[in-house]
Order: sequence, then structure tokens, then C-alpha cells
Amino acid sequence: MEKGTIKVGDAADLKVLIRERNATARNHTATHLLQSALRQVVGDHVKQAGSLVTADRLRFDFTHFSAMTADELRRVENIVNGYIMDNSDVSSVEMAAAEAMQSGATALFGEKYGDRVRVVRVGEVSSELCGGTHVRAAGDIGLFKIVSEAGIAAGVRRIEAVTGSGAIEYVQQLEDEQKHLATLVKAEGGGVIDRVERLLARQKELQREVEELQSRLNASKSADLLAGVRESNGIKILATRVETEDPKGLRDLSDSLKDRLQSGVIVLGCAAAGKANLLVAVTKDLTDRCKAGDIIKSLAPIIGGSGGGKPELAQAGGTKPENLDEALEAAYKIIG
Ligand SMILES: [Zn+2]
Repeated sequence: MEKGTIKVGDAADLKVLIRERNATARNHTATHLLQSALRQVVGDHVKQAGSLVTADRLRFDFTHFSAMTADELRRVENIVNGYIMDNSDVSSVEMAAAEAMQSGATALFGEKYGDRVRVVRVGEVSSELCGGTHVRAAGDIGLFKIVSEAGIAAGVRRIEAVTGSGAIEYVQQLEDEQKHLATLVKAEGGGVIDRVERLLARQKELQREVEELQSRLNASKSADLLAGVRESNGIKILATRVETEDPKGLRDLSDSLKDRLQSGVIVLGCAAAGKANLLVAVTKDLTDRCKAGDIIKSLAPIIGGSGGGKPELAQAGGTKPENLDEALEAAYKIIG
């Protein structure tokens, strides 16, 4: 209403938005066909638990206890499209509610119906109590495409689907994506999957190479770092800052240092983007004299964090990278 008022008895000129209405009718009749197909594929226990029909799509909620498999969804889609191609007439008749129930028409459980009801039939495949708008023959739906299936509550699944021009648009969108993907991986002539598989294999290979180079780099770095070893009460201690971005890098480096040191305590620290990480490693022979977990508990507060771990390995993260050198220096005093 843009202006004025409407009251009972006024004469009005009714104009239906015919494209929207036809699109809605396609989705609605398709919803009935979907229910019939679901009963065939997943079983008679399927009951409608909600439904939404708009011009753009349809949504159908139903009782079922497990996710549908890709194969079941494909079968449902094929059955519905088979009905569409059979092009059965869609008819609606009004009759007494009792008569409708006796005829086996699908009704909503728990719904209150009046004495007279409208039954919508699609050929021999669907018969439902329904007051909605429908196509004249199943073939009007054009194409039916399921776009998603998901659980929305315990024992309730939801299928969303598109029909007619909405389904064609959906397929075209998939085609566009596929073409884009083919261009990205330079497989315009076909064989996209093959190409992607090869790229993934190559990436794995490169990852392995990077890791190998990283560990070689660690080995040479650790040789340099060992110059910083100090000895206190017979324990070799190395506390140093390293250029590594992540905790895994610290672990790899400490493993290589432990191998070279044979016996000792290693404290490594790194700082990046407002964060500091510390790692303490103690060789097995020394864990009865000092434990990595205890050492890290003393050091972590200095870098504004907390941490813990096992006797041989412990790690901590903190928010004060500016105190990292202080924490490393403190390590020499705590140990030994
Ligand atoms: Zn209906």
C-alpha cells in the first residue's frame, strides 16, 4: 500500500506478477514430487516437517535419521526429473476431508483441516492436501536440481532445490566455475581433475624438499649456535635467540642441537609479530637434575606468558617479545 486505504467491498484491479507466480508454482509442484521421490528412496517414514516455497527456490524439511548419501540424492533428483519428463497433468479437486484421507492423500500430521479440503494430484505419483499454486503439467517445471542437503535438528533433514530457470542458472553458474578453474590450472582443453591432482602431488613434493632443506639449514645453524654453550656445575647450557617463526621450527632446531650437544640443556627463543616463544629441551641423562617443565615455568612469566611440558621438552608463548633476551639470560642462572 503506497497511499489510501482498502476496505471490504472495494472494487480492485488484480494483477498477478506472472513470472514470479509461475516460478513459485514450479517450485511448489516440485516440492510435492520431491516428497514422493524421497519416500521411494529413503522410505515411508519420511514425513514433512516444514517447507518453504518461493519464486527462487524450494526448501523441504523431513524426518529421517541419517544424512543422505550422494547416491540417494542423485536417485531422488533422477526420479523427480523422470516425473517431470513424464509430464503428467496436475489437477486439484475439492472433497470432504474424510474422503481425501481415505483416498490416501498425504496430509500434514497434526494439522487441523476443515470439512472440505483441496487435493492436488500429479498423475499417479503424488496426491496431497494443499491450497497452493501449481503448474498445469509436471513438464512445466523444466528441470529440478538439488542444491543442498543438511541436518537441521535431531532426526530432521533439509533439502533445498531449484527448478525451471533457477535450475538452469544454477547449472550455468557451475559451468562458469568449472571454466574459471580450468583457466586457472591451464586445462582449458579438458582434464582439469588430472591437472589438479598433478599440482597437488607437486606441491607435496615441494613441501618435502622445503622440509629437507630446512633441516639441513638447522644442522648448519646449530653448528654456529653451539659456540654459545656455557657450562655450569657440569651441565652444558645453551640459551639463545633464533630466527624462526613458529614453535615447530624451534622443536626441529632443538632436536638437531640435542644430537650435537649429547648432554645438556637447550633454551631457544624466537619473537615475531608481538609474540615470543620459548622452548626448553633437556637431554635424558639430566632430567633427574633439572626438568624442562620446571625451567619453563620460571622463564615464561618474563615473556608475559605461561607454559609447561615434560621433563625433556617444554614450551611457552608470551606477549612480551621485548623481554626475550632477559628470559634467555635468566636461563643460565636458573639451570645448574
Ligand atoms: Zn503443497
